[in-house]
Amino acid sequence: MSSEENSTTREIDLRYEQLKQEAAIGYHLNPDIEFTKALIAGLIENERRYGYGSCPCRLAAKNKDDDLDIICPCDYRDPDLTDFGSCYCALYVSEDVMKGTKKLSSIPERRPPARKPITEKIAFPRACVEPLAYPIWRCKVCGYLCAREGPPEICPICKAKQERFEKFL
Ligand code: SF4
Repeated sequence: MSSEENSTTREIDLRYEQLKQEAAIGYHLNPDIEFTKALIAGLIENERRYGYGSCPCRLAAKNKDDDLDIICPCDYRDPDLTDFGSCYCALYVSEDVMKGTKKLSSIPERRPPARKPITEKIAFPRACVEPLAYPIWRCKVCGYLCAREGPPEICPICKAKQERFEKFL
């Protein structure tokens, strides 16, 4: 049985509307509704299987900690939108693709084979920064930054969950 048959049409339609609303803040769902709903069915199926919505186009490790970077929307969505006009699965597309001024093409996998925590890659000039009253939290999906005791439950920009935040400073 296909993943689309496993997920009910109503469930897929509801999620489609939810993602469309969330995407309205600077993102676009793929206008091919049938294709988009098939991806959403895969996403719902992964939520059932693993307990989290890992990318429908990638193999999951079946371990949430190892798959955090590919929980949809994945950490690679925004750079892929910028460079290629869509995310790896083409669930999200850029404004240019929506307008028809850019065509979709195949996208190389940006996810590194052996991931390193993003914090290791940030060469931030810590010595120049005064001690802060609150730690700074960064959403790994969209880059939103906020200063508070702990990360917010949901990113106000891209709606990623708390677990997708990392301590930035
Ligand atoms: S945003 Fe990332 S996780 Fe979501 S469908 Fe696109 S490539 Fe997959």
